[in-house]
Amino acid sequence: MAWHPNRRSFLLTAAAALALPGSGPEHLQTRAAGTAGQALPAPVLPEPPAGRPVTPVTAPSRADVTKTFAGRTAKYWGLEAPGVLTRLPSAAGGVALTADFCGGPSGNGADLALLTLLRQQHVPATLFLNSRWIAANLSLAKDLAADPLFELANHGTTHRPLSVAGKSAYGITGTANAGEVYDEVMANDGRLTELTGQRPRYFRSGTAHLDDVAAEIVRALGVIPVGFSVNGDGGATFPAATVTHEVSRAHAGDIVIIHGNHPAGGTSAGLARALAAMKDRGDTFLPLPRN
Ligand SMILES: [Zn+2]
Repeated sequence: MAWHPNRRSFLLTAAAALALPGSGPEHLQTRAAGTAGQALPAPVLPEPPAGRPVTPVTAPSRADVTKTFAGRTAKYWGLEAPGVLTRLPSAAGGVALTADFCGGPSGNGADLALLTLLRQQHVPATLFLNSRWIAANLSLAKDLAADPLFELANHGTTHRPLSVAGKSAYGITGTANAGEVYDEVMANDGRLTELTGQRPRYFRSGTAHLDDVAAEIVRALGVIPVGFSVNGDGGATFPAATVTHEVSRAHAGDIVIIHGNHPAGGTSAGLARALAAMKDRGDTFLPLPRN
C-alpha cells in the first residue's frame, strides 16, 4: 500500500527541491547581530499540543509551486498515489476514523447524530472540511474546532480531484495544473487556520483522487495527503446495515472514511452498530499518525 517508512525523507526532499527561503526550520532560528561564530541560544518555540507535529507556518508560494512543478507529467491517477497515507503504521494498535464534509449544492448538511455519537462514545476522528461546508456551517465548524476529540483537516476549497492535467473522477473535473492544485489546497488551508489557530496537517481531495505530482505538491506544502483503506459509507449512499458491515471490516491499521454531511443517509445509524461491535471485540480508535 502507500505507507512509506521514508515519508519524512520524502517530505524533506520535496521541501529542499523547492529551495525556498523561510520554508525550512531555519527561518525559526533567532538571529543575533555581532555573534558570528558563536552558538546561538536555542529558539523558544511554542509547544504543539500533545501528539501533534508542527505543520510549517510558512508554505511555499503559488509562484514557487508553479515554477517547481510546471514541467512535471503525472504518471498515476487514482486513490493511492505515492505518498498518500492510506493505512496507519504497522505498529498502530487501532483504527483511524475520518469523516468528510464535502459541501456544495447538495452537500452542505450536518450529521449532528454522527457528531453526537462520536462524542458519546469518545471516538476520536479527523474531520475533513471543505470550504463550502465551512461557509454554510460556520458556528458548527467553530464548535468542532474547539473540541479536542476532533482534529480538523482540509477537504479542499472547491472539492475538486487533485490533478495537474484536468483529470476527472465521478464526473467532477479536477484541477488543471500545479497552480490550481495550490489554490485547491491553500485557500481552504487559510480558512482552517483561521478556525483552529494552526495550519491543518492533513488534506484529502474531493473524491479522494490525486495524481502523483499533485500528491507531491501537497507534501511540499507541508501537508500529508490522506486516503483510506475502508470505504465505510460509499459517499453516504449506503443504507445503515451496509455501513455497519463495511465499517466493521476495519481492523488495527485501517483508515475508515465516512461522511458527515448527509444526515438523511445511513451513516450515523450504521456507525453506531459498528462501533458497538468493534468495541465489544476490543478495537480501539486512534488519531491519524504524526508523519
Ligand atoms: Zn468529499
